[in-house]
Amino acid sequence: MSKKHLSSRFLRATRYFIFVYGGLSPMIECDVAIVGAGPAGCSAARECTRRGLKAVILEKKRIPRHKACSGILVPDSIRTLSEHFGDMAQDVFASPSHVHAMRMHFPSGNAGDIPIQGLMIWRDRLDAWLCKSSQAVVLDETKMLSFKEGIDGVDLLCIKSNGELLEVHSRILIAADGGASRTVKQIDPSLTAKLTWYVALQETYACECHLEPGLFHFFAFPGISLYPSAYVKDGLLVMEVVAQPKDKATSAMARFKEHLWRRIGIQQACLIRRLGCRVTYAAPKGLFCFGSERILVSGEASGLLNFFGEGISSALASGRIAGSVSFESIRQGVSPGRLYRQEIETEKRKTVSTFNYKTLLFQEGNAFNFKKGLQVLNWRERVRLSKNLLKWFLAVKG
Ligand SMILES: Cc1cc2nc3c(=O)[nH]c(=O)nc-3n(C[C@H](O)[C@H](O)[C@H](O)COP(=O)(O)OP(=O)(O)OC[C@H]3O[C@@H](n4cnc5c(N)ncnc54)[C@H](O)[C@@H]3O)c2cc1C
Repeated sequence: MSKKHLSSRFLRATRYFIFVYGGLSPMIECDVAIVGAGPAGCSAARECTRRGLKAVILEKKRIPRHKACSGILVPDSIRTLSEHFGDMAQDVFASPSHVHAMRMHFPSGNAGDIPIQGLMIWRDRLDAWLCKSSQAVVLDETKMLSFKEGIDGVDLLCIKSNGELLEVHSRILIAADGGASRTVKQIDPSLTAKLTWYVALQETYACECHLEPGLFHFFAFPGISLYPSAYVKDGLLVMEVVAQPKDKATSAMARFKEHLWRRIGIQQACLIRRLGCRVTYAAPKGLFCFGSERILVSGEASGLLNFFGEGISSALASGRIAGSVSFESIRQGVSPGRLYRQEIETEKRKTVSTFNYKTLLFQEGNAFNFKKGLQVLNWRERVRLSKNLLKWFLAVKG
């Protein structure tokens, strides 16, 4: 063991001693600290505990926590969940539990269905179930404030909701802190500055609603927002918009409500929940961040979000890879960064490929089967759909 290793161990031991006898902030030691209890963090934790590592998840919100998300599990997500976590708890599913298609609505009043073989879930319940099933130590209401990477590990400073500070020392840090990742901002501030940021807004209403359930309704009306969508879940109407940087999400939602409510005859609706978050698309510009030597960035934090804003499948997959690489690197006594960047390449390519317009429309095997959907449309609607998609595609590509 090198002198540096010994001295940092000595410092940590001294710190712990001072904490116990001198009243400093408590300290936790673990193999892998995971920031974020979303699908990426829980998947990473599951892989770590399965391999016998001590994993600690730090989540700033109280679990269960809501997250702006339609909650559609595409076949890749369903597969990974089943392999990695087993059968999902029944209360995770919404009613109806299956989503058969994305119905594209056009200004002409016509519509076309793009098949999806998806499941509809509630994110607060799915993520709480993932947390529990991960078998990791879960510290919710614990926010990571800062971190410092050293030769033999990463030191984290966290704050609990009661104001208490907590220090965590881990051999590896897995950052799964979502789209607007604080970790990535600290690792690579210039990359964060280069990205175009959108604001997603989701509103859930109790109302009498005549929107057909079992479908994800997408409104190809770029004048409203980049991505106006609506669907029915447990009898509630959920509406979403993604606002461009020069637009306001609340204005986009007002435009969407004006359009949709008139169209489906909603007179009165009671707002149940409003959720928002910042969203960016790293793939078109190749602006991914997978971390450093001892910090592995996974899930949406790394930029793994596909063209349709579908990110659970890559969050689960990348988290699992981060967990497995952590185990291998600890076993071999090497730092995990390089191995992770190699192993994550397939997921990265998969995300990038969804931003290829031709692949998206004409290749089978995507989560959204455009090829099949286009076949049932007449030529006019095919052209209209392709044009609308291209518009959205170019807007997202910046
Ligand atoms: C409107 C909308 C609809 C979507 N619909 C779908 C869909 O239907 N299907 C799909 O697959 N994807 C969808 N997505 C994308 C999907 O929600 C995300 O890609 C996915 O949640 C990413 O998972 P993650 O684990 O990487 O991050 P997240 O799920 O965002 O989890 C990150 C966690 O980290 C925590 N955190 C952040 N910072 C800290 C900190 N400093 N300390 C401690 N904790 C911290 C957060 O509180 C959060 O719980 C949608 C996104 C949006 C915006």
